[in-house]
Amino acid sequence: MARLIFLGPPGAGKGTQAQVLAQHFGIPHISTGDILRSAVAQQTELGRKAQSYMDQGELVPDQLIIDLVRERLQEDDVTPGWILDGFPRTVAQAAFLDELLKEIHQSYDYVVNFDVPDDILIVRLLNRGRKDDTEEVVKNRLEVYRKQTAPLINFYQERNQLVSVDGDRSVEDVTTHLGQLIKA
Ligand code: ADP
Repeated sequence: MARLIFLGPPGAGKGTQAQVLAQHFGIPHISTGDILRSAVAQQTELGRKAQSYMDQGELVPDQLIIDLVRERLQEDDVTPGWILDGFPRTVAQAAFLDELLKEIHQSYDYVVNFDVPDDILIVRLLNRGRKDDTEEVVKNRLEVYRKQTAPLINFYQERNQLVSVDGDRSVEDVTTHLGQLIKA
């Protein structure tokens, strides 16, 4: 059983590590970015509403994400745990998550903050080459991260709920470190 929140800038390696750990623990990897991209690909109502924000590297409005997460965390496969990757991304989303977890009688074990310097993030994102990984959009996503998401580091730190990992290392090294943190 593990319930983990992965926090960190775009390109920090949250998704990569979430995939490895989710498989290891047999729990779902819940990536709001992946869910949104699939909604865009299928042109659902959510996808149509989210697309222009994503293309510009802006955050999708909180309410859309909140509705999405509320549904996702009440599906059957979450009983053994979950990894939230890319959510919460604003203080309002974090406050909502607290309320939701109370309501559904769940709690999380760790908030893991992935630390990676900006110059490394930019190189990683530009090499990844996703549709929203152009130089201009990447710069905006980093700015949006600093303004809207980075305050969550303090939010969780003040509650003594934050652990940090140095994400500027090989995938294997980060996985090893995470494994040690989560066992401890
Ligand atoms: P990355 O972390 O690499 O930037 P994600 O796949 O997590 O990418 O997210 C891609 C895009 O999806 C974001 O730029 C944003 O527009 C949208 N998005 C994902 N999660 C959220 C969220 N929790 N709140 C608002 N927008 C989100």
